[in-house]
Amino acid sequence: METGKGPASGPKKTPLTPKAIIYQRFGTEACYKVEEVQEVVQNGCPGLAIPQKGPCHYRCSLQLPEFSVVSETFKRKKDAEQSAAEKAIQKLGIQPKEDNLTVEQAWNELTARLSYLFSIEFLSAIHPHPLSGHFRAALATEGHLNGFIPVAAIATFDAKTNSLCKHINSEVESNHLLVMSLIIEAAKRLADTLFFSEEKLSLKRLTPHPPEIIQSLLNESNLPESISIEAVRIPSSTKQTVESLMLNASFGNYYLDAIAKELGVEDASKIMISRTIGKASSETRLYFCAPESITIGPSSELYMKQASSFKVYSNAVATYLSGQEICGDAILASVGYTWKSTDLFYEDLSLCAYYRILANKIPRGIYKLSREAMLAAELPTAFTTRSNWRGSFPRDILCTFCRHHRLSEPVFSSDSIEPLPDLPGRKRLRDAASGGNETNEGGLAATAVAQEGCTLVYRCTVKIYSKCQDLILLCSPKESYKKQNDAINNAALKVLLWLDRFLDKVDMSVEEMTSSAKGFDILIYPQQFVTEFSLCQILPKYRWSSAKVAGSFLCPSYSNVQNSNLEDEVSSGMTPSSGSLVCVTYNIYLATEKECIKEHLEGSEEFEFEIGSGAVSPVLEAVVTQMSVDQSACFTMELPSKEIVLAVAHDSANILSLLSSGTCLMKCEVTLLRVTVPLEDRMEQALFSPPLSKQRVEYALQHIRESSASSLVDFGCGSGSLLESLLAYQTSLDKIVGVDISQRALARAAKILHSKLNGNTEAEQPTNRIKSAILYKGSILTCDSRLCGYDIATCLEVIEHMEEHDACSFGDIVLSSFCPQLLIVSTPNYEYNVILQKSTPQYQEEDSEEKSQQQSCKFRNHDHKFEWTRRQFCQWASELALRHNYDVEFSGVGGELNKEPGFASQIAVFRRRDSSPVNADFTEHYDVIWEWSSSNNSRS
Ligand code: SAH
Ligand code: MG
Repeated sequence: METGKGPASGPKKTPLTPKAIIYQRFGTEACYKVEEVQEVVQNGCPGLAIPQKGPCHYRCSLQLPEFSVVSETFKRKKDAEQSAAEKAIQKLGIQPKEDNLTVEQAWNELTARLSYLFSIEFLSAIHPHPLSGHFRAALATEGHLNGFIPVAAIATFDAKTNSLCKHINSEVESNHLLVMSLIIEAAKRLADTLFFSEEKLSLKRLTPHPPEIIQSLLNESNLPESISIEAVRIPSSTKQTVESLMLNASFGNYYLDAIAKELGVEDASKIMISRTIGKASSETRLYFCAPESITIGPSSELYMKQASSFKVYSNAVATYLSGQEICGDAILASVGYTWKSTDLFYEDLSLCAYYRILANKIPRGIYKLSREAMLAAELPTAFTTRSNWRGSFPRDILCTFCRHHRLSEPVFSSDSIEPLPDLPGRKRLRDAASGGNETNEGGLAATAVAQEGCTLVYRCTVKIYSKCQDLILLCSPKESYKKQNDAINNAALKVLLWLDRFLDKVDMSVEEMTSSAKGFDILIYPQQFVTEFSLCQILPKYRWSSAKVAGSFLCPSYSNVQNSNLEDEVSSGMTPSSGSLVCVTYNIYLATEKECIKEHLEGSEEFEFEIGSGAVSPVLEAVVTQMSVDQSACFTMELPSKEIVLAVAHDSANILSLLSSGTCLMKCEVTLLRVTVPLEDRMEQALFSPPLSKQRVEYALQHIRESSASSLVDFGCGSGSLLESLLAYQTSLDKIVGVDISQRALARAAKILHSKLNGNTEAEQPTNRIKSAILYKGSILTCDSRLCGYDIATCLEVIEHMEEHDACSFGDIVLSSFCPQLLIVSTPNYEYNVILQKSTPQYQEEDSEEKSQQQSCKFRNHDHKFEWTRRQFCQWASELALRHNYDVEFSGVGGELNKEPGFASQIAVFRRRDSSPVNADFTEHYDVIWEWSSSNNSRS
């Protein structure tokens, strides 16, 4: 399936229908309404007044954002619609029928168009044309300028003129000076009716319009006496600051003249105008001066001459924003005449709006804006599921990005593939490059591959083409998804993440670019890519990056704990973990160190995000993952770049002075409102009593008690649910250790264990004999000498979070290097999923598109890399035991051993046969995250 408009398959293009052209331009904003028209037919009997019904006809009205048109009547609805579209196209002046015009014909048409624009007919047409406002303004201008129209206005506001110029020279697309040259040349062919003022770059009629026509036009205006429009000055030197300014326009005071004055030139005829910036329907444009040294020579020399001198005085920011070469100071303003009304349209454009426009050019900025959270939100680094994503979807962000960078719409092609039949429940291998530390938890994820060969999964490829249909980038992620849309969004996100990285460091070498792109499954075509993004290379470095975690650990202050019995809340499971959706209230302030001044920057009453996907500033996430529901925290965030702060600040003057004081901090207050736990946990809690996780812990406890072990290590301890239980029960253990790769999970575990071990009053004497507890951070795929000789090892619901081959090597490492007497391993039983899904209809709402596939299974958690059947698990465990001289027994929790489809969680218990462990000598690979020992604490 291909969506989006791709390059034509061959050089020949089938002509588009008018409706298709309108669709390309307006999408669903174009609204067609067809009505029936009963035509009255003459019955051939003069004098007979009774109308007779004729055949039914149709008329279509087409509503576009700026104007509407109505078709003639037709016998068929279709024809009426096409006719309406055609009328709209004519009115817009886009893609005229003269597609096969020769250059000479185009010249003739251009001359004719110019002649029409200066005619009485055009001036007095009922419907407003963006250019007619300029004519009226010119006529209202007193003195020597009376009646002069800047050539730039014609070049910018008449689409038809533009498209004719394109026929003459295709380079006009990127060169406004060239359009102006061509218009001037056409005007010279009309020397008997038009007067061209070289020094003014403007045109007027030789013979003025009759005064009564002028007078009646001027009377129509409703413009107030004087209007002030806020605009933004972008100096060409990046050393100067971008500032707000006020434009004063009014009736009799042409707005382009007002802009000219601000730019330090005489009048409107020296002004050049960019294309619109941002949304297609906006009137936001950049205004700048025509080069001083401009000289008008024959055919197009105007722009040739300037091309070289422009580079030197380039206004990098303005050029970047418009995608057009702009030199000198520029003014960004939202003002102009539109199709909608004869009056001037204008809007204030604040500094804040300017910084938002700038943010909208990069993926991260587009995402932040879509969440209205410039400071808190970050473009997530992983697409997990549609239901967990907040803000604009990657696919839409990518489309916006391409539009803003004048690239073709991205082309998504997704194929359905059949999962390998011999590996039920196995997910495609992912790209190894995705493996940063934390990505294991809540990292990249694909949803599902299901029962043997019966369900299709999707993979998606994205291609990005330049406007000239050169392929510049191709992304083909290996992940497969059960839903086509998920595959598309995952692929789009990869492209966005890489583009974001690239835009942060535009001066990458080609090698750097290619190799960093590879990490995102992206192939770039360097030459074409660099051409398209050459404008970004001159961009001054904008640091859009938000706060970074300064140290690896934070000390936020918590408050407002409603229930002093913290442990209860924590163990009720309402702390967020990877894959959870959390909802918080937050407020971010800019404050001076002593907090005498505190300016509110951003906040939200209810802000939802997914933990573990990088959807918010790392500090915020780190703090929230250590909180429980109803708790509040306050912490300091690293001050982001000035550009980001200003994109938030409505009162920029105040904020700027605070920022420049150099002593301010960014403070965040956050309250955790609710936590929606991941599907797996919800299923386990809803279906099993006690919850499956508790049953697993109890199962392990039973084995621990039966043994007379004194030390235990929990591999992949997560937030420490097993370790926590060990503190509450009487066992023979005196030393316990947890290892995990996730800093977040460990931070939570530390918090819980700390409060349990230190918080005990004398009244509640500990029931356990534990003397030492340690949490290590590290991958359980590496050994650490400090763990050798531990009696018991547990590994509950962890192996399915690793690739299958890693799960296998984990088994080998533990049994050959750590050699525990007892190893307990649990993992989901894939066969049980049918039951989980059947009995939890409410969870299928998340997959409403897939109601038809209710029988199909998927993994319980998006982070699972595989889920094994009983046979697969048995085979893995038996072979492993055999290799290392262990015995193995199988059991489980949830469900029954001899009843199909077995236990919900399957468990293998490995017992060492010989009693003398071989102690290999390793080094210490793990980092101590937290440590407690009874001798250092006042616990008797
Ligand atoms: N055993 C815990 C947590 C299970 S969730 C419980 O039963 O509640 C799986 C845990 O495995 C996560 O905390 C994840 O961070 C951890 N994990 C995944 N791969 C790991 C690796 N290679 N090394 C260490 N921990 C890992
Ligand atoms: Mg799991």
